[in-house]
Amino acid sequence: NNSENSNEDLINYRKQHLGKSLSLQYKVPIKMVRGAGQYLVDQFGRKYLDTVNNVAHVGHENHHVVKAGQEQMALINTNSRYLHDNINDLAKELIETLPPELSVLHFVNSGSEANELAIRMVKAYTGERDIIASEVGYHGNTNMCINISSYKFDGKGGHGAPEHTHIFPLPDAFRGKHRGDNCAEEYAQEVKKQIDNIHKKQRGVGAFIIEPIISCGGQIELPEGFLAKAYQRAREAGGLCISDEVQVGCGRVGKTFWGFQLHNVIPDIVTIGKPLGNGHPIAAVACTQDVANKFANGMEYFNTFGGNPVSCAIATEVLRTVKREKLQDNALEIGEFLKAELRQLSKQFPIIGDVRGQGLFLGIELVDLELNPLAAQTDYVANRMKDHGILMSTDGPDYNVLKIKPPMVFTKENAKELIYYLKKIFAENFMQL
Ligand code: PMP
Repeated sequence: NNSENSNEDLINYRKQHLGKSLSLQYKVPIKMVRGAGQYLVDQFGRKYLDTVNNVAHVGHENHHVVKAGQEQMALINTNSRYLHDNINDLAKELIETLPPELSVLHFVNSGSEANELAIRMVKAYTGERDIIASEVGYHGNTNMCINISSYKFDGKGGHGAPEHTHIFPLPDAFRGKHRGDNCAEEYAQEVKKQIDNIHKKQRGVGAFIIEPIISCGGQIELPEGFLAKAYQRAREAGGLCISDEVQVGCGRVGKTFWGFQLHNVIPDIVTIGKPLGNGHPIAAVACTQDVANKFANGMEYFNTFGGNPVSCAIATEVLRTVKREKLQDNALEIGEFLKAELRQLSKQFPIIGDVRGQGLFLGIELVDLELNPLAAQTDYVANRMKDHGILMSTDGPDYNVLKIKPPMVFTKENAKELIYYLKKIFAENFMQL
């Protein structure tokens, strides 16, 4: 029975017996007991519109996905050392969405595992272990992933960049080191500086890893042309290019199925996570035949759960649902509508300094007139939206970006409701700066 314990009991038990560095959303945490489409329901039957959860890609507890998992679970679940149609079916669904160069897949259980495997591939392929990554990037919770995640090692409890990690400044055209419409080359030069640093240490470049829209960095869209230039420089130095699509992949950015396709580049390795299982733990690494061949150096890659028939049935149904329900098109249409509405709001409320993103992966940055970040106000808006039954999240190095990345079944009506309450809260609090 989900409502046996009061929230206070649950919180007190957690404090004592669950990991001490786990965090809870909201000053007054919520207990969610059901999900349906773009909604979550708490134990009091209160319905919340979810603008946060890009894991519940095709909608919370999507009927087709739940059924696919239930049916396969009742038949057989085992590891990938036995033949099974499901793993091949899933591979085919994914390969259909990827450029022909990326034609080999490994299945794993989380975004962290995907990036962890990607870095192992880099080491096997290049023989190098030096990685170039963005400031405020996040790539996962394992040792290696933390080591390349400036969001963590440059933040609270962190100890700065490890010896083999090379961080270039967040390519933020709004408030970053280089600004404006033409900063792609300047940021590509910053990547080049890191390549030179590695060479000065008499070592070679392993990889350049980045998200196509930097999520933890505050929904930072890469300056136009930057990725192609950065890939070119990394490759000239012998490095591989990894696109971390854990947050933005599977149609969310609207115009394209994968984020890297917004930038007309083809990575050597693509990591896929969150949306693939719609909440079930499955993730994947796509790579070239060349990378896959070099990784297969004689050591077996075994993953107990990766690519099991249940996970594959679920992920296949997620991808088929995206296609069947035209959710990529929906992301584009609703995303464009939301962005236009938010830009209107920003004209009315100067506290909204920037509105950015693609498809249903948007960010709203709150600043004062000198572009100083307004973290307290951002936190206030997210908490106040909760009072109106709308879930939003905040992020960015200065905690001043509201993020919008809802399940892809988000409708125009949902978008209008979101705008209505944002406008109400801004009008109540931030008429003037
Ligand atoms: N890469 C990115 C960009 C992420 O946002 C995350 C998770 N927030 C990960 C990797 C790690 O994924 P997971 O939590 O599934 O291990």
